[in-house]
Amino acid sequence: MVIEQDTIAAIATALGEASIGVIRVSGPESAAVAERVFRLPSGKKCRLPAARSVHFGHIVHPHDGTLVDECILVWMPGPRSYTAEDVVELQVHGGVRVVSAVLEHVLMAGARLAEPGEFTKRAFLNGRIDLSQAEAVMDLIRSKTELARRAALTQVKGRFSEEIRSLRRELIALQAHVEVTIDYPEHDVEAVACAAVIDVGSRLMERIAALAASARVGDMLREGIPTVIVGRPNVGKSSLLNALLRRERAIVTDIPGTTRDVLEEYVNLRGIPYRLIDTAGIRETSDVVEKIGVERSREKVQEAQLAVVVLNGSEPLEPTDIELLRETEAIGRVIVINKMDLPQALDRGILQQVNRTESPVVEVSASQAAGLAALEEAMEAQAVGDRGGIAESSYFTNARQSALLRQAQQDLQLAIDAAKQNATLDIIAVQLQGAYASLGLVIGEAVGEDLLDEIFSRFCLGK
Ligand code: GDP
Ligand code: ZN
Repeated sequence: MVIEQDTIAAIATALGEASIGVIRVSGPESAAVAERVFRLPSGKKCRLPAARSVHFGHIVHPHDGTLVDECILVWMPGPRSYTAEDVVELQVHGGVRVVSAVLEHVLMAGARLAEPGEFTKRAFLNGRIDLSQAEAVMDLIRSKTELARRAALTQVKGRFSEEIRSLRRELIALQAHVEVTIDYPEHDVEAVACAAVIDVGSRLMERIAALAASARVGDMLREGIPTVIVGRPNVGKSSLLNALLRRERAIVTDIPGTTRDVLEEYVNLRGIPYRLIDTAGIRETSDVVEKIGVERSREKVQEAQLAVVVLNGSEPLEPTDIELLRETEAIGRVIVINKMDLPQALDRGILQQVNRTESPVVEVSASQAAGLAALEEAMEAQAVGDRGGIAESSYFTNARQSALLRQAQQDLQLAIDAAKQNATLDIIAVQLQGAYASLGLVIGEAVGEDLLDEIFSRFCLGK
């Protein structure tokens, strides 16, 4: 492993008006860099001690000593720091100009400007955190909603990594069992190993599947729950989307079928992220342009997790409405009766009959922004069920990790299938090894030869 040798610096706080700004410096030269730009109130240089400490003073120009700003210097010698390297944090007055000027002086004193994520990368390279934790830190910084933030936090704390490590320990024990049996001539010993692969393997499969499932939840939290807004032309889909976004983005018009294109918006409702997709009105049509839009809408329904089916309360139900209700039965949905500010003509009794999934029905007025709180509540119930439960129990994986989890599932399934067919143990061992390696990559660990050795030595049957 290459441990980076130079000393990096960057602004650690958000740029903008704030009461303090923090410049973080990390690397072997941190103390030397700090000593070049930092002076005690008396004007004297400050020798940083061996232990962590806090000092008050000034930031000055490293060559001519010109005063830049007052500063609180926090000294955190490695390895007990964020990066496990020597770290200095300079707390100065907030504001873009001051913070940038201090950073400039720190760079003048010998530090290099850090690349994005470089502090966290060093924490990983120095073994302070594992890869999934490092990625979770990034997600945490970027998380768009409270729910996503909590899920990311769970992973930073390492619960996800713990589960992966536990799975790997069981896999390697299973593999050891298989490998030590390979050279045994007795057939019944082999049969016992195969039975173990089937039995233990199936249990591990369930646990990996559970991780993968929560990974999908993680994707949704990051990307937003894909939610389609469907309905006949002119029922008020775009108005509803706008009302939810609380800003005018889609074109609202009186001409039916104006929203020909699919329009997507990311929106955070009650702490839950949705990707709201406004579709062209779904109906039988001969108009070519609209037909393309209708097809696109149907596709979007297939891809969605949640549907908001909009009906026009001021008109009776039409065959297209009923068709639409049928087409959305397979996914979570909320039925919205819009235009409740107008005299009502929609027969609630008939709606109840065609609402075979007993989906929640909410009455709103998109144009008057009425009934939206109830709609958001119903969407939440359909989308995530118990909200607290999801945030606490789901992990925040990214596409790379999801792909590796799927790979591990495939390898393990191959091993189980091979065991069921009494295939040779060498083949089973290779597949178990593959699953073990994929899980290791999720948390940035290569196949640990030492771990293998250790477990095999424990397992040795006197060979
Ligand atoms: P879309 O084709 O389903 O997207 O429907 P639009 O959002 O474009 O709305 C069609 C027409 O219905 C527009 O004139 C809107 O102003 C009107 N509209 C939408 N929501 C309401 C509502 O709640 N009450 C009333 N009275 N009119 C509405
Ligand atoms: Zn529209």
